[in-house]
Amino acid sequence: MDYQAVIDGIAEEVRPLFARGRVAAYIPALAAVPRDRFAMAVLTADGALATTGCAGEPFSIQSISKIFTLTLALRHVGEKLWKRVGREPSGSAFNSLVQLEYEHGIPRNPFINSGAHVVTDSLMQERPYARDTLLAFVRELSGNDAVAFDETVARSEAETGDRNRSLAYFLKAEGNLTGDVDAVLDVYFHQCALAMSCVDLVRAIAFLARGGRGVDGARVVSAGQAKRINALMQTCGTYDAAGEMAFRLGIPAKSGVGGGIVAVVPGKLSIAVWSPALDKTGNSLAGVRALELFTGRTGLTVF
Ligand code: GLN
Repeated sequence: MDYQAVIDGIAEEVRPLFARGRVAAYIPALAAVPRDRFAMAVLTADGALATTGCAGEPFSIQSISKIFTLTLALRHVGEKLWKRVGREPSGSAFNSLVQLEYEHGIPRNPFINSGAHVVTDSLMQERPYARDTLLAFVRELSGNDAVAFDETVARSEAETGDRNRSLAYFLKAEGNLTGDVDAVLDVYFHQCALAMSCVDLVRAIAFLARGGRGVDGARVVSAGQAKRINALMQTCGTYDAAGEMAFRLGIPAKSGVGGGIVAVVPGKLSIAVWSPALDKTGNSLAGVRALELFTGRTGLTVF
């Protein structure tokens, strides 16, 4: 399969979509990103890389970071994490408050914001310097020591992060956040502000396409844990659009409000796409279409 030709064709075809949708404005530093940026990268399980657009340009990975903190928590905290966070799709927005109150402070899944706060808090109990642990982890996974936090974005998140503060304090009130709220949120705002390119991302999530082994062959998680992370991406990775994404893409995917989406075809390849303008559910408009075209044209799907 000539992935290079496939993604070059897709890049041309989705161009008219750049003008549609909205760049996330509730985090001011994200609103400044030009909406005509587009990139896509594909890394096959045997190591062949295809890229199109600005695939080496770092962008704010936002909620894609929830994959990395969950992976670290599964490694360091283990199965007891599931006492504090569920594994069901939320059917609500990623930053919804109402569901959390009804469900007594147990977030539906690790990929909504409240779930990510619990994951980060759990990780911090085992790894108090979670920010450093996370940065070292994504640098190792991507093989790129230049991966860094974008401090401007992190500050912008903190300044406008009152919804996240509300979620975190509510978790604390329910006894499901044990650390210091500000310390947990500092890690959360930084993880969202990780700046990575599509090439960094396909390498960093390659372990999910390779039964838990990273690009260098080293074990990141067990094959069973990789299966579970993929299952969570499939059912919960794109917020309340997860059903629609399964329908349209047919592969596990995780998005972020920076306009990035990562996806995997287990056993075959990892993909990353970036286009900043979002649809109403907070998923990249051109990014979703690009992945839909990719799975349609290549016939690759988990279904
Ligand atoms: N930093 C964003 C927030 O907390 C991340 C959300 C996202 O990418 N869905 O609102």
